Amino acid sequence: MSQQVNNSLWALSRRSKVEVNSLKGEHKTDIAIIGGGYTGCSAALRLAEGGADVTLIEAEYSGFGGSGRNVGLTNAGLWLNPEDIEKAIGKEYGSRLNDFLSKAPDLVHELIDEHDIECDAIRNGTLHLAHSGAGLKALENKAWQINSRGGSVMLLDKSATFALTKAENYIGAIHDMRGGTIQPLDYCYGLMLAAKKAGVTIFTGTPAQSIRHGRKKWHIKTPDGMLVADRVLLATNAYLKDVSPLVRSSFTPMYYSQMATNPLSEDQLKHFLPGKNGTWDTRLVMRSFRTDAAGRLIIGTIGNIYTDNASFLCSWANKVVRDTFPGVGDVEWAYKWAGRMACSSNYVPNLHDLGRGLYSISGFSGRGISPGTAFGRVMADFILGRIGSAELPLPLKTVEAVKLNMMRQLYFETGSQLSHLYDHLN
Ligand SMILES: Cc1cc2nc3c(=O)[nH]c(=O)nc-3n(C[C@H](O)[C@H](O)[C@H](O)COP(=O)(O)OP(=O)(O)OC[C@H]3O[C@@H](n4cnc5c(N)ncnc54)[C@H](O)[C@@H]3O)c2cc1C
Repeated sequence: MSQQVNNSLWALSRRSKVEVNSLKGEHKTDIAIIGGGYTGCSAALRLAEGGADVTLIEAEYSGFGGSGRNVGLTNAGLWLNPEDIEKAIGKEYGSRLNDFLSKAPDLVHELIDEHDIECDAIRNGTLHLAHSGAGLKALENKAWQINSRGGSVMLLDKSATFALTKAENYIGAIHDMRGGTIQPLDYCYGLMLAAKKAGVTIFTGTPAQSIRHGRKKWHIKTPDGMLVADRVLLATNAYLKDVSPLVRSSFTPMYYSQMATNPLSEDQLKHFLPGKNGTWDTRLVMRSFRTDAAGRLIIGTIGNIYTDNASFLCSWANKVVRDTFPGVGDVEWAYKWAGRMACSSNYVPNLHDLGRGLYSISGFSGRGISPGTAFGRVMADFILGRIGSAELPLPLKTVEAVKLNMMRQLYFETGSQLSHLYDHLN
């Protein structure tokens, strides 16, 4: 099966229809956005609300990329702990970014309310589950780091964790009320619709094939047309196609797969996440569990379900469900899909200044619902001239390629598959 098709549960259960309205001929605009995920749609919405003339082009449809394939946890922060972020980018930018990303879930849930986005949003807190003594120590340290920077996450003991999850073999958790869960593709579609209502011209089914700077303006070639713009924001993250091998070199693709059942029975649901929290765990090759509005069991882990050597992922998932949620009984996997993440060299997103008014945001490293929404918005404020580059939560920089990128990609994929094989055999 092609890795490109979005056959996720989210795509198959979306409320909205896919509308294709591709660009034909020449179209002039002040600001062009390339990419219709959270980052591009959030930037477009903010720019249009600020009075700018904006056009967004999307190769496929809104939510085709990571925004329509993810787990749907509207978490605060990044995968890195706050202290590691400060180590990676220095204390000044690190604490600015920690503060910025701590508030990012508020923005997501406010936008959902403000624009009446129907995406099954629940804000009951996410659970980071400890799978071992070392995992619990790591969570205690993480909770201390967050709370000493103004957060208020709670540490749950084993029985409180079990009461919310009915998950065996977890010995504690961080309950972070800043986040919750959404139907991720419906949220993305809702953001695109809000941008359209605010005045953004949107062309879907319109891949940018090349970008070049003419005498004064950017010329973005598409299969049947040309978009001419003063400034351009590239918001394509891991799904970047064709236009910038340079930006492509600044991250390593990493796959994450999910499997979902048909809706569970009422009795089964008593034994699977009765608190309805989105969860993930402290394993290096992490697992995630969540349910959706229809009551499906959804499990996820690092690795690509579409590769030949991943055929055992379903039996791996069966074993995980048997061991972790024994009360649920046998399940069948009605949906299987994978999505691509873009891991930057230090797992912190990159804001790139590519010169002459061309900017790019990428490298979300697996945490992009709240960060993508917030970075799209803040870059819009920068482009509108409301804030200067020194006020951005990250420095605008030139592109640096990830070292030994192919090796790193191989390490992510082979390491995760070996770990699943080990789990499966033990
Ligand atoms: C499986 C998975 C699970 C995840 N789980 C979570 C989670 O639970 N919580 C969380 O916060 N984050 C999660 N993430 C990360 C999050 O989904 C991404 O960081 C986020 O969606 C990135 O949004 P984006 O708008 O920057 O990019 P995308 O959503 O990938 O959008 C980029 C768009 O650009 C388009 N495009 C590419 N090239 C071109 C071109 N040349 N011309 C026109 N359009 C183009 C693509 O078609 C695509 O639609 C997960 C990611 C994956 C893959």
